[in-house]
Amino acid sequence: MKDKGFENYKLSDELLKSIAMLGYKSLTNVQEKVIPELLAHKDIIVKSQTGSGKTAAYAIPICQLVEWEDNKPQALVLVPTRELAIQVKEDFFNLGRFKRIKVAALYGKAPFELQEKELKQKTHVVVGTPGRTIDHLERGTLDTSSIKYLVIDEADEMLSMGFLEQLESIISQLPKDRVTVLLSATMAKDIESLCSAYMKNPIFIEIASQSTAVDRILQEGYRVDEDGKLDLLKDITVIENPDSCIIFCNTKQRVDEVHKELLSCGYSCEKIHGGMEQRDRLRVMEKFKQGYFRYLIATDVAARGIDIDNISLVVNYDIPQDKEVYVHRIGRTGRRDREGKAITLISEADDRYLRDITKYIGKELTIKEKPDSSQASGFKKAFLEKMRTSALVKEAKGAPLNQEIMKLHINAGKKTKMRAVDIVGTLCNIDGITKDDIGIINILDISTYVEILNNKGELAFQELQRINIKGRPRRVSKVDQ
Ligand code: AMP
Repeated sequence: MKDKGFENYKLSDELLKSIAMLGYKSLTNVQEKVIPELLAHKDIIVKSQTGSGKTAAYAIPICQLVEWEDNKPQALVLVPTRELAIQVKEDFFNLGRFKRIKVAALYGKAPFELQEKELKQKTHVVVGTPGRTIDHLERGTLDTSSIKYLVIDEADEMLSMGFLEQLESIISQLPKDRVTVLLSATMAKDIESLCSAYMKNPIFIEIASQSTAVDRILQEGYRVDEDGKLDLLKDITVIENPDSCIIFCNTKQRVDEVHKELLSCGYSCEKIHGGMEQRDRLRVMEKFKQGYFRYLIATDVAARGIDIDNISLVVNYDIPQDKEVYVHRIGRTGRRDREGKAITLISEADDRYLRDITKYIGKELTIKEKPDSSQASGFKKAFLEKMRTSALVKEAKGAPLNQEIMKLHINAGKKTKMRAVDIVGTLCNIDGITKDDIGIINILDISTYVEILNNKGELAFQELQRINIKGRPRRVSKVDQ
């Protein structure tokens, strides 16, 4: 059997180290196909489900290929939603940690000026949503002159959100001499035309057709009146008693309603929708990922690309009106070869959507009889017991990396003319610390953050308590990560 280890590819030791610390032992199918082609500078179209390790499939070669010395952005990754932008940024950050790759995320409803400042510093990779990326281009705050790698992730979703014009406008402002990678779960006509307009002899890679992902997931439906949905939802969740569950609704009002009801019944639940503050949305996603609560009630904001392992059950409280959205929603369960279960509530007015969906996925949902309340009560004890125990809290993905990296805060920044060389110079004067132990340095107006690698954080921290930086003692403290 062919060895699928990462060490068989032309990757630097720094990258291999972060890959190992993230716990990736062998390449996933998509990585096996994409990594060598991208390392060889080929344009690539990838048709692949989410959850297949596709982010790392492009992030690993890009981290390998970017030149650390170049201060201008060399890679641009376009994604449909803010959540995904943040997640992709995090993946790049974790993978590129030992190479000290700097990644900026550009997305709306977050202060423009902070992003502008970030872009003024060394930035290797920019991950952006189309709207905010255009804003930066128009205001001249994003320099694309050194972009060598363009990734269009979740292309189908971007087009269905009406981003075609923005995408074309962004692409037209990039250097022609570049490598382009496009990823999509589905390959509609408009995506094919996008590819033929902007890519050079692309290699087409298809990983596990949509149907195998769909086949792995047990899909059931219940017929129900609108009025009966809440009761049915409660019965189903008691009977299924999932470890973790996403309940999808079509509107934020519905999310609010369902959330309020489940909360009042003592469910361990939170909600997420586009009407919430960005900060709160991120907090909820992070807590859900780590398993702090079991039920997430969501609009489609959370349906795409978001990488949460091990969702046991997806419930479509409202049937999605778009067949592709159905596939994306249920794809939150059954990730990476696991089996999953999806239950859809179907009211009378939903029949045409159901027809569309079954035609698209090529199979019927198993329509089940509504459980009666006595049936549900038999399961109640186990349900209440699970609700009382908190879910197993999972470590954040980058946690093992954080263990050997300490982030320090220094109370001096641009206003006091602090530069990266000042920090590097001071640290390298400490016995036992070399430039290889210094990670990402982020200089803000009156603060500087610096990461110390290889378990040398404590040493650097202690020494900086007594030695000067740029001629003066500075307050240096540890930052919780
Ligand atoms: P994605 O398809 O990019 O959403 O990735 C799905 C999940 O797979 C993420 O949690 C990744 O961290 C994880 N992952 C990616 N590559 C590998 C790998 N080679 N081995 C194990 N896990 C991986």
